Amino acid sequence: MTEKVTDLLHLFDEQKFQKDLISWFKKEQRTLPWRENKDPYRVWVSEIMLQQTRVDTVIPYFERFMRLFPTVEALAEAEEADVLKAWEGLGYYSRARNLQSAVREVAESYKGIVPNHPKKISDLKGVGPYTAGAILSIAYGIPEPAVDGNVMRVLSRIIGIWEDIAKPSARKTFEEVTRRIISNDDPSSFNQGMMELGAIVCTPRSPSCLLCPVQEHCRAFAEGSQEELPIKSKKKAPRPVPIAVIALKDYSGKFLIRQRPETGLLASLWEFPNVELSEGGLKEDQIKKHLRDEYEIDVEIEKELASFNHIFSHLKWQLTVYEGSYQGEMASKQFKMVDKNELQKFAFPVAHQKITQLILESEG
Ligand code: SF4
Repeated sequence: MTEKVTDLLHLFDEQKFQKDLISWFKKEQRTLPWRENKDPYRVWVSEIMLQQTRVDTVIPYFERFMRLFPTVEALAEAEEADVLKAWEGLGYYSRARNLQSAVREVAESYKGIVPNHPKKISDLKGVGPYTAGAILSIAYGIPEPAVDGNVMRVLSRIIGIWEDIAKPSARKTFEEVTRRIISNDDPSSFNQGMMELGAIVCTPRSPSCLLCPVQEHCRAFAEGSQEELPIKSKKKAPRPVPIAVIALKDYSGKFLIRQRPETGLLASLWEFPNVELSEGGLKEDQIKKHLRDEYEIDVEIEKELASFNHIFSHLKWQLTVYEGSYQGEMASKQFKMVDKNELQKFAFPVAHQKITQLILESEG
């Protein structure tokens, strides 16, 4: 153990802390579908879904995903398009792709049994240190740290760690602290207790210290610094990207959609034709030119349907959505023409799902 962690844990009563945390967790934990049993595959899927996504949002997705792909084998054998469709709306679609390719590796190399070895599990695609720690501790009872942003917030307050949690180097400190204080008897309840504490008591703003089961161990509470921790330097604001999109109908009322490239942002998802706008020039003219260049068609813009923003971690799409039509023949094969009722069969990113919704509402 490094000197820094020894100093941080000076006078910290690990045993009593474990006892207080675990007994609170056992009494107060929320009923969540992935807690029904300790199947490592279920734990794995839930942890991947929960990355960057709220519990309430994940619950219906998780239940549906488990009905569609209840086992490692079922997910390994599924079509990627069906998996993406089941993931539609959760965002960060590379999570779904990585999950499926890792599950295929488990099916092929480990006879369908999720490995319980830290190195083997960490080598699977999309399984970072947090997910590996969560699966190993929750499903297999192995005392490995599962440290994500929430756990770093909670620990920074309890132990009084004034390191910038936005820096990758900070994770090492938090993992080392967790290795030292985790319960060897019940690492599953310990890690889940830390996550639960972060979710319902030690929240980012206004933590409920007066109701906190580990208040007597908490340095931030003792010093009154719970609102100042964790230290987290600001990320750069997402770059604004103005985009014109068109819900384009042909003479028979079918809409033009296309599939995004197989790599990069939102890979392989479907979308309405769109173009990133350059400065100067009318938006309508730019989308018309795009359709002429890319699809060799001349279109009529009928009206502006909506404008809204969609924010990713690094980008902010500023979308202006038009409705339009064209009469001629289509010359290209890189897209599909689909009836409005078929639109929902395709996996769209969230911003384009909103457009589908607008179309369905405006067409009645
Ligand atoms: Fe968080 Fe307050 Fe509990 Fe400390 S006492 S762990 S700051 S809720």
